[in-house]
Parts: sequence; structure tokens; C-alpha cells
Amino acid sequence: MTQETGGFAALDLNPNIVAAVLATGYEEPSAIQQQSIPIILAGHDMIGQAQTGTGKTAAFALPILNKIDVSKREPQALILAPTRELALQVATAFETYAKQMPGVNVVAVYGGAPMGPQLRAIRNGAQIVVATPGRLCDHLRRDEKVLSTVQYLVLDEADEMLKLGFMDDLEVIFDAIPATRQTVLFSATLPSSIRSIAERHLREPKHVKIQSKTQTVTAIDQAHLMVHADQKIPAVLRLLEVEEFDALIAFVRTKQATLDLAAALEAKGYKAAALNGDIAQNQRERVIESLKDGRLDIVVATDVAARGLDVPRITHVFNVDMPYDPESYVHRIGRTGRAGRDGRALLLVTPRERRMLQVIERVTGQKVAEARLPNAQAVLDARIKKLTSSLAPLVAEAEATHGELFDRLTADLGCSARALASALLRKATNGQALDLAAVEREQPLVPGVGAPRGERTERSDRGERSDRGDRGDRERRAPLPLAEGRVRCRTALGARDGIAAKNLLGAILNEGGLARDAIGRIQVRDSFSLVELPEDGLEKLLTKLKDTRVAGKQLKLRRYRED
Ligand code: AMP
Repeated sequence: MTQETGGFAALDLNPNIVAAVLATGYEEPSAIQQQSIPIILAGHDMIGQAQTGTGKTAAFALPILNKIDVSKREPQALILAPTRELALQVATAFETYAKQMPGVNVVAVYGGAPMGPQLRAIRNGAQIVVATPGRLCDHLRRDEKVLSTVQYLVLDEADEMLKLGFMDDLEVIFDAIPATRQTVLFSATLPSSIRSIAERHLREPKHVKIQSKTQTVTAIDQAHLMVHADQKIPAVLRLLEVEEFDALIAFVRTKQATLDLAAALEAKGYKAAALNGDIAQNQRERVIESLKDGRLDIVVATDVAARGLDVPRITHVFNVDMPYDPESYVHRIGRTGRAGRDGRALLLVTPRERRMLQVIERVTGQKVAEARLPNAQAVLDARIKKLTSSLAPLVAEAEATHGELFDRLTADLGCSARALASALLRKATNGQALDLAAVEREQPLVPGVGAPRGERTERSDRGERSDRGDRGDRERRAPLPLAEGRVRCRTALGARDGIAAKNLLGAILNEGGLARDAIGRIQVRDSFSLVELPEDGLEKLLTKLKDTRVAGKQLKLRRYRED
């Protein structure tokens, strides 16, 4: 085990949990994990101020898994989350971290799905229940004893729960759990309503807050780009075409991500290498030396592995995965702009992470402007510029050495100088696409990436392309043809509300009671989304979905008139 993996091992967690976490690819605990895990393990109540993206889920999930008694088949831990999406996400996280703990059962309890199977799963020995408050109260009305064995209670995103009007439900739930329980409350903000809950229901809670002092970063030109998580590698490849960099460091969160991105870059001909905690120290030093002397141009690193890295050649930092906290962001981008030089830092932001971007902007006191992915024309211009600058020094002198040969070849081939020069260019550029149509074909606009704002789309869960991404910008605006018997419906929720296609799919499947293949394409744009639904029974379906919420907001799906 390397020194860094000791980070989790040093936390006094059960080795099976540590093993599962390391297998997930995490190298060391994030700040919120480092601080919260010992407090929760020691049995204290706790208030954690942290938002999505800080690693808060593992901050409570790991110590709770450590505490439950697997041999007892009864609910021991209850996690309350504001939305079905978050409840499912938290339940999945528990399952991931419990992969090497046979006998752990997790159940997610939320509105829209039938109650019977949920109640049965609770009664059948799930030790961990992740629930939205409203649905859990429905269960309590059927069986008031259902939570009587719970010893650990977590309120995740407590401020969001209050915003959604769950205050009364929370009080009912507090009353249904033994007073001897340990209670942990996570919230991005601590308004007075949250503090009053804490006063009434937590016992001498310890406070954990990731200290964020304002930090300024001046010489560094910063920008962010909105992308979907599965489109980060194509986005990086596209950016690299136009960014004029000397050396570049790309930050990702996991070891696997360092390997994946480094392999994709190498495949495109970049001199790139991965740097992560699994790589032996002497090998790491070699990678850094190579970056310094130009044998490498790109290093893809985790935060841990890049610690102490100081290479003046670095002109660019790509934050491919979001850092856990603003300090880490400042630290990362400080790898460029060394020794008074200018640097450029790009941050890829997925829709869920918008809030983290705002936190970074607040802490650094700077706006991180939004940039767009370069389109095919920009890629082409950059390629031609590179070609021009690689030829410029030769033009001055190659004629002296190769002029005669050129004359002989034109004579032998009986062709014009332009024809021969074109043939030589084709050979020299090795089949690289150097006209607009070819670049467009080679770099299809991935849906959701690079689309102009308001045109952002993404794939539905079934892997369908929701946009004809390879036809260029103009056609992307044309309405997509509808399948027979389907109509398009619109909601005012979009990517800027943190919505992804899978959230819409999940909500409509659950609450609409539809078969999976009844739902067609889902297009998530910035300020609205379109969903294809069966025309047959549409009115009934829309009535069923009348009160459905997604990401905490009312879905309000309406038929969309195409004309
Ligand atoms: P959360 O703030 O809990 O929503 O977590 C944000 C993301 O960070 C999730 O995708 C986690 O899988 C990931 N994550 C959490 N802790 C770590 C860690 N220690 N190392 C790497 N990734 C992590």
C-alpha cells in the first residue's frame, strides 16, 4: 500500500470498507471526510456544512457502515434526503462502499414507487434505509414501529429538505426514532430554521465546516465549460486542439480516470502520462522530470499524486473533475502561472456541480467565465495555424536543399507545382482532416458538449442519441422527427436546474407507471427539456404526473406544440 492510501487506512475504518473505497479509485479522504469520519465514529452528533461535490456522502456513509451490526437484520441507520434522485444516489453510494461487507442491505424509500415492496424490504432486514421524508411518513402511518430500531440518523441536504416543506414530516420522523440515537446533519447553508432543528434534536453536536478563506489568483486566466460527465474526454481532446499550451496538467479524481484520460491522449499522439498514488515514487519522479524537460507535455494526475509538483513549463491546468473544495481548486490552478508567468485554467463543470462553481467563485472573489467548446471551424483554424508555423522556418531554407529535387519531381510526374505541393502536404499531414467537412465528420458535436447555450442536449438512459450530433450546428436546431404515436412534452426544468435525462426518465417511469420503452428521446436543454411520450393516454399520464417533482422542483410537464 502506498503512503497515500494510508489516508483512508489511518481513519480506523473496517478494512473491508477501506478496501472497497480504494477499489472505487479514491486515493485519500476529502477534507469533509477527514474531519467528519472520526467524529461520527466516536459517536458524537455532528453538523457538517458542506455541499454536493465535497464528498459528503462518503463522509457519513463510511462511518455508518462501520457502525452497523451486519448480523442484526433490522433498520439501524436512516438517511433522509430531499429528493428521490439524491436518495437513490446515496443508496447506491452505500452499496458501493459495502461491496466487501456481505450481508449489508440498503433500501431506498421514495414517493412514486409502490409502498408494499419498500415496507417489505425494510421489514426483511435492510440495515440501512435511505428515504425521502414524505414517503417515510406514509410508511410510519402504516407501521409506527418501523423505525424503532434505528440508532443512526443522517439528514442530508437539510436546508433543501426544509425548502421543500418537509419540516413537519421531519418532526414526525424524529419522534419515531429512539432518543438515544446519534444524529448527523449535513447542510450547505445553516439558516436559523436549521439551527433550531439542531438545537432541539441534536445533542452537543460537533461542527465541521470546510474553512474557506478568500484567496486570490491573479495571473491566471480562468474559464469553465459545462459538460456532461460521460463527455469529458472528447471535450478535453477538442480543447487541446485549440489551446496553445507548453505543458499541461489535467486533474481528475480517481486513479482509473488518470489512466483513461492519459490513454486517450496518447492515442491522439500527445506525449502524456498518468500520475497517481499507485505509481511508485521513483517512477513518479521520472514522470515529473520528463514533464520538466519536454519528453512529456501532459500529465494527468490526482490531487495526491500532484502534491508538491512545481514545473515552470506548465502553462495550462485542466480541472477535468471538480476539486473537492475551493482551496484545492486554488492549489491546483497555482500549478500554472509559476514564476510570474501567465497561466490558463479550465474547469469542466457537470450540471450537478454548478453550485460548487459558485462556491469557488465566492471564495476566490473572481468570476470564472463560461467558455464554449471550440467548433469545427476553430479546430480547423488551429490545425492550419500549427501547420503554417511548422512550415514557416522551412520555407526560408528548404528551397536551397530540396529545390532541385522538386523541379525534377514535377518534371518526372508531369504535374504542376501546386499538384506536387498538394501531394507532399497530404503525405506530411498524415491523413489529418484539414478541411471543414472532414473536421466535422471527424469530430461530431457530441450532444451536450459544445452545443450553444440553450441547445444543450444529452443522451437518455438507454443510450439513444438525443440529437443528431454529427450534422453541424445549423441542423441541430431543426426539430427532430417524432416516432409514430409519440408526442413531445415540455418542462421548464433544464440543465441549469441540475436536471439530467436520467432524472426525468426515472421520475416519469416511477410516477407515470410507464414501461421503459414507452418513453422516447429526452432532450435536456439549458432552460427546458423535451420528452417524447406516447400520445395514447397522454392526458391521463400528465394528470398522474401533476405533482411530480424532479431535483426538488415541480416538473409541470405539458404537451409541446411543434408549430
Ligand atoms: P458528494 O459530495 O458526496 O456528492 O461526492 C461527489 C463525488 O466525489 C462523487 O462522485 C464521489 O464518488 C466522489 N468522491 C467522494 N469522495 C472521494 C474521494 N475521497 N476520492 C475521490 N472521489 C471521491
